[in-house]
Amino acid sequence: MMKKVPELFGSMVFNEAVMKERLPKDVYKALKSTIRQGKALEAQLAGVVANAMKDWAIEKGATHFTHWFQPMTGITAEKHDAFISPSPDGTVIMEFSGKELIKGEPDASSFPSGGLRATFEARGYTAWDPTSYAFIKDDTLCIPTAFCSYTGEILDKKTPLLRSMEAISKQAVRVLSLFGKDVTRVVTTVGPEQEYFLIDKEDYRKRPDLILTGRTLFGAPSPKGQEMEDHYFGSIRPRVKAFMKDLDEELWKLGISAKTEHNEVAPCQHELAPIFATANIATDHNELCMEMLKKVAERHGFVCLLHEKPFEGVNGSGKHNNWSISTDKGENLLDPGATPADNAQFLLFLTAVIKAVDDYQDLLRISVASAGNDHRLGANEAPPAIVSIYVGDELSAVIDSLIHGSDYKASGKKQMDIGVSVLPPIPQDNSDRNRTSPFAFTGNKFEFRMPGSSFNIACTNVMLNTAVAQSLMVFADELEKADDFDAALPELIKRELAAHQRILFNGNGYSATWPLEAEKRGLMNLRSTPEALVHYTDKKNVDLFVRHGIYTPLEMKSREEIALEEYCKVIHIEAMTSLSMLKKLIVPAAMTYSAEVARSVDAKKRIGVDAPREIEKVQEITELTGALIEKTQALDAAVNGEPAALVERAVYAHEEIICAMEEARKVADLLEMKIEKKAWPMPTYADMLFYV
Ligand code: ADP
Ligand code: MG
Repeated sequence: MMKKVPELFGSMVFNEAVMKERLPKDVYKALKSTIRQGKALEAQLAGVVANAMKDWAIEKGATHFTHWFQPMTGITAEKHDAFISPSPDGTVIMEFSGKELIKGEPDASSFPSGGLRATFEARGYTAWDPTSYAFIKDDTLCIPTAFCSYTGEILDKKTPLLRSMEAISKQAVRVLSLFGKDVTRVVTTVGPEQEYFLIDKEDYRKRPDLILTGRTLFGAPSPKGQEMEDHYFGSIRPRVKAFMKDLDEELWKLGISAKTEHNEVAPCQHELAPIFATANIATDHNELCMEMLKKVAERHGFVCLLHEKPFEGVNGSGKHNNWSISTDKGENLLDPGATPADNAQFLLFLTAVIKAVDDYQDLLRISVASAGNDHRLGANEAPPAIVSIYVGDELSAVIDSLIHGSDYKASGKKQMDIGVSVLPPIPQDNSDRNRTSPFAFTGNKFEFRMPGSSFNIACTNVMLNTAVAQSLMVFADELEKADDFDAALPELIKRELAAHQRILFNGNGYSATWPLEAEKRGLMNLRSTPEALVHYTDKKNVDLFVRHGIYTPLEMKSREEIALEEYCKVIHIEAMTSLSMLKKLIVPAAMTYSAEVARSVDAKKRIGVDAPREIEKVQEITELTGALIEKTQALDAAVNGEPAALVERAVYAHEEIICAMEEARKVADLLEMKIEKKAWPMPTYADMLFYV
């Protein structure tokens, strides 16, 4: 029997309630204030906290502890240490010191550092992020940490996120004080909706492409795909339902508020959405979510695919990053207010986001750039590669009238004269949401739809937080100097909205005319990962991150290199896997099959039966096999022709290697459709997408 949900929820988390119960009052208070101020913990205090954590963890069955961090590999890292400490009498005692809690020293040399390693010592350390609770997973006490090199360069995804949250808080507090608000901290809130595929483990095992690359590199379309639209929100298969129940329990134990679960558009595609949380916690939780999806799937005889495009011809998977900002008192700053003053404040924050997205379109695009996501963006199932904002008709009309100083007319509503202090109520109705927009205002938050399903959302939120911090800084600078705030505010809003109107687009992002229109507007269209990544270190972007204390120029260069390297490696592995499957599985299967038909034709001929159509079949398969051998050779040659220099290699991978892979795939898929099922060396799309 499952425990009651409230009992289960957070039972594996060293949270507020546990701290209060287990820490001496003064220690608890001191810890709380350190957390609130985002400061480091004093050594003496840490000792007491560590001891309480250890006792709690051991009671829950834990034997080990680990610093849990998010290096640039894209997955979380952990190095387990047992609590044991030897005693002179040959026994052990269970120990965990304050020092071990605050700081860990994993060997940094095997993590990607993109050039930083050459310049600096590879040694690094991890430092506890006390704003994210410790938790127990696999009998191990996990301590969420940031990861830096000894010379101070950051080596992870978490540190810049914490810094960017600090940056936006600082600027938002300045702006809010202009509105007479006494706020000391502002946080960014994030709710990531996670899409994924579940397939049968037996099928997965027979597909080297899924095992090695996470996606199918071959596969003819299934006779049935997603055209009946019968999967989306459809009733959930019992086997999947059992998986989701188990998953919910695991997530709840970790204090992750998994809330919404439903089927998605593609067959065997699903979605999981938690209730939103502070950006760094949402990021930690999403990382844990992805890990649990995989682990729990395993237990149910499934494999969970988090790749952005596991199957050609059906939708891929994304991760919608719902984002907003709210004060420490819980006021959502993107919620249109009920009073005129709140409306003006809302409009200023809205304008800040609009300006940020326009000024740093490239950064948002870069934050979602990967080999996997290239299959989605711009592919008529996911947002285009062009960044634009959807605000809906109502808010558009408001913005138009603000810019032009004209009257505001909404359908069926009274005409009104609006200044920033008189804003009509903006309906929080999400029903007419434009699914083709990459960045949509959804009533009281923005939904950024470009991230890929396998992404760590830290990067996207670093970009968003920092870009918005920059807008707010510019606004605060100007408004603080103004003699008459009430007069300066509408002027600023009007001017900035007019300046950034080009980024607003309510139309169909999938239409063929949008890229042309976007080009006229001067919006960027960074179609592929290599094309996008090289803009990361553009001067304006380096200036931004340096100004807000997020990255040094060197750290940015290293991140650009890591991303480009990763792109090249992914494509290289895909190409090598394609080659291996072609040579060892597909071409031999085709040869065997045509030889078998030939033998049967020959046998028939010997007893005087003519089989002219079967002879044609042998001919056809033989010709296709020949063509496939040629395509395989061409792919081999493409791989061998890789240039050495990084940027050239990435562009080459995109332009040459992917093409050569696709060419070979076309022929292989054609063969699959013509060959006896028994003779095909791996499960088909229909096998994988439709199971019971
Ligand atoms: P839909 O699929 O209709 O877009 P979901 O309910 O699946 O919506 O997901 C919406 C997500 O947005 C949830 O994770 C929710 O918690 C989150 N969300 C709601 N309000 C905020 C907010 N103020 N800040 C950040 N995220 C939010
Ligand atoms: Mg959803």
